[in-house]
Amino acid sequence: MGPDQQQDAGGECMTEPRTLEQCKQRAAERIQEERECLCALSRDIWRRPELAYQEQQAHATLTRFFSCRGDWLVEPHYKLDTAFRAQWTSSLSHKESQPLHIGFLCEYDALPGLGHACGHNLIAEVGAAAALGLQAALEFTQPPRPVKITVLGTPAEEDGGGKIDLIEAGAFMDMHVVFMAHPGQDDAAYLPDVAEHDVTVKYYGKASHAAAYPWEGVNALDAAILAYNNLSVLRQQMKPTWRVHGIIKNGGVKPNIVPAYSELEFYLRAPSLKELAKLQEKADACFKAAAVATGCRVELSSSGHDYYNVLQNKTLAKTYVENGKQLGMQFQADNQALNSLSGSTDFGNVSFVVPGIHPYFYIGSDALNHTEEYTEAAGSKEAQFYTLRTAKALAMTALDVIFKPDLLVNVCEDFKLIKLIEEGNISVTEKNRESSGGAGCASR
Ligand SMILES: [Zn+2]
Ligand SMILES: [Zn+2]
Repeated sequence: MGPDQQQDAGGECMTEPRTLEQCKQRAAERIQEERECLCALSRDIWRRPELAYQEQQAHATLTRFFSCRGDWLVEPHYKLDTAFRAQWTSSLSHKESQPLHIGFLCEYDALPGLGHACGHNLIAEVGAAAALGLQAALEFTQPPRPVKITVLGTPAEEDGGGKIDLIEAGAFMDMHVVFMAHPGQDDAAYLPDVAEHDVTVKYYGKASHAAAYPWEGVNALDAAILAYNNLSVLRQQMKPTWRVHGIIKNGGVKPNIVPAYSELEFYLRAPSLKELAKLQEKADACFKAAAVATGCRVELSSSGHDYYNVLQNKTLAKTYVENGKQLGMQFQADNQALNSLSGSTDFGNVSFVVPGIHPYFYIGSDALNHTEEYTEAAGSKEAQFYTLRTAKALAMTALDVIFKPDLLVNVCEDFKLIKLIEEGNISVTEKNRESSGGAGCASR
């Protein structure tokens, strides 16, 4: 038993609240002690931006960061060329129990032409920092059960969905709770990132002289234009929360040749997988109708994985907010956050397999993600304070999960419940009844 623990009347291992506070303080101190190394880590990733699945330098920087610490087991190229895993396990004095497995995710891919305009270098820093902070706290006091910390390097968030590859390869299999944080404009424990499906539409027509024998041609550009307009008409009946946006990638080669080929690329987004499926059906009809009208052949395909909407874990979010406030974070009101504009992330898919949290954090700038100004902000000195503060809040939240077994029970209940709701297995009325009936659940 650690020096900070005591036996309660029932012989169970207890930790005083004061002790948990001391552990949190130790985690924050360690992050502060490592600030120069952590800043160098994210600067290094920031100044050499790499696109999805090509993050070789970032992979090398991060694996070196953990390898040189000695007590982390590092697996480079873990399941994907530019993914990695670094693991540390607390003292094995409780051989009888399975370790509680806590994951921290690092993203590190950049955007074409813009560099780190989504601040994924800071996501990598937060993941690494939070893991070091948690490790220090667990070296300071023995946890009630052994803890395994995994830092998982997850490439290709901006394009492709590296986390989905890693889910399919079993990388999240025995994780209990997973943490990451994303740079944004405000501190928010949860923003409703939506589900997304990408579709590539190819129309095959027939070339002909556009002036001499236009009637011999089948115009693939016309099909693309009709499809674009069909979708514009569809917008009248779309829910305000749905999004359809796209480009014409190929519209023919020369004005005097009837275009024999055209290509469109569209992203479809909706707040849930169910709604996304409805939207996809409607959009597919628009694409196919354009083929019928013009006599073209159409091919629909998807380049990668669908991104799922992020499931909220209210218990984790509430705990994160409590810790963040202690560190001086100012959070948006819940209703404001839920109505915020948001994009999509492959963390959504993770949120369907492991209870987790994906908060957003302020980085000291009002710039918007995916702009040159945001790239500058993500590499600035000012962002460091906010990034380290976020890492501290994540490590502290992980400590709450470790030292408060009831909290973990609630986290798991929230996870099961929201999945049931998402999958439409219970009605809202039943959901409300179950929610209010949960004894001692901090989140309800
Ligand atoms: Zn982005
Ligand atoms: Zn991003």
